[in-house]
Amino acid sequence: MNRIAVMKPWLGEEEIAAVTEVMCSGWVAQGPRVAEFESAFARSQQCSHAVAVSSCTAALHLALIVAGIGAGDDVVVPSFSFIATANAAVYVGARPVFADVDLVTGNVTAETVLRALTPNTTAVIVVDQGGVPVDLDSIRAVTDPLGIIVIEDAACGVGSTYLGRPVGSRAELTVWSFHPRKILTTGEGGMLTTISAAHADRARRLREHAMSVSAAERHLSALAPAEVYTEVGYNYRMTDLQAAVGLVQLQKLPTIIERRRRLAARYTRAIESIDGLRAVADPSWGTTNFQSFWLEVLPEYPLNRDQLLAKLAENDVSARRGIMAAHRQPAYGRPGPEDALDSGLSNTARLTDSTLILPLYHQLTMEDHDRVIGALQAPAPEAGAVLGEAVLGKAVPAGGRRND
Ligand SMILES: *Cc1c(COP(=O)(O)O)cnc(C)c1O
Repeated sequence: MNRIAVMKPWLGEEEIAAVTEVMCSGWVAQGPRVAEFESAFARSQQCSHAVAVSSCTAALHLALIVAGIGAGDDVVVPSFSFIATANAAVYVGARPVFADVDLVTGNVTAETVLRALTPNTTAVIVVDQGGVPVDLDSIRAVTDPLGIIVIEDAACGVGSTYLGRPVGSRAELTVWSFHPRKILTTGEGGMLTTISAAHADRARRLREHAMSVSAAERHLSALAPAEVYTEVGYNYRMTDLQAAVGLVQLQKLPTIIERRRRLAARYTRAIESIDGLRAVADPSWGTTNFQSFWLEVLPEYPLNRDQLLAKLAENDVSARRGIMAAHRQPAYGRPGPEDALDSGLSNTARLTDSTLILPLYHQLTMEDHDRVIGALQAPAPEAGAVLGEAVLGKAVPAGGRRND
């Protein structure tokens, strides 16, 4: 039996040809392909400006800098997110303040953001968690009157929609990831998109050591103008090798989303008939790309989350625990008993403890899809107890796949 991965990038001959072409051109660092990828991305995601960078984490860092966030500022973030969301606030000397999430979407809401605001809050980072669009407008109804900027972490959101438009297109600043665990990949890579030309200009300079003249511009002029370093910048550049892959992936995006949503609908239909399992779904304000097809294991199900993960592993299915809770990590952990630690973050605690992510990728065959669904079918209660015993204490294999 083949082992079913939780995620696989969909890369092929076209990406190989695109990379080969860049290699043969002799210009492999940030250059014309990056510029082309930025325009194509901005067009397809209906964003005014796009700045390609080395990762979404780098984009988060630059977004906070151009938004003017720094020491003394509080930045509201969901704990229920990949840890980079919270780390970015620390990079600029601000303090991340964790907001809880909604149980149905896994996203922060106007109500949870409101509860997390402090007198020093100057920014909120909202996340389209697992691809589920966040209800941006309802949150901005709270933050806009207070002059608090909302940054959208759409690391998982490419191909999702909010109010009939691509996610991220309405936020002042949005960041994206092209890590292989995400839907559109360039190996590593990220993008910052914005409605502001000034934000885009500054981010463009900051990603390149804050040089007044870009490497591409220098290359074009016979007598290179002396560059000036306007402030302390970074090397957050994407390469043309990566951008060439991104351009091909972007063309495939509609096909990828269509297939993911079809496979997700098949999961949903199967799971609806299983007591005690609840699957992620589209919210009323948009559609998800099902970047993560997650489900919650409820108390009615005969196995708990870790037991179900073990059962899936026994069937050679690589499922994964759901989204992490940053506040429980040693990097952010406060001393004290677990209860105190999770205080005010009860939905985050529940989701992180009871959800898991099922395999979903473009090349997933119907046969493998059925094998995952078969492994979810609950055994009869008695048999469940026995199975629970049998699989308990058996560690779920960690890693094993490149992109986990
Ligand atoms: C993956 C992810 C990131 C980090 O993306 P990188 O490109 O790996 O830096 C940030 N935020 C969220 C919500 C993510 O899922």
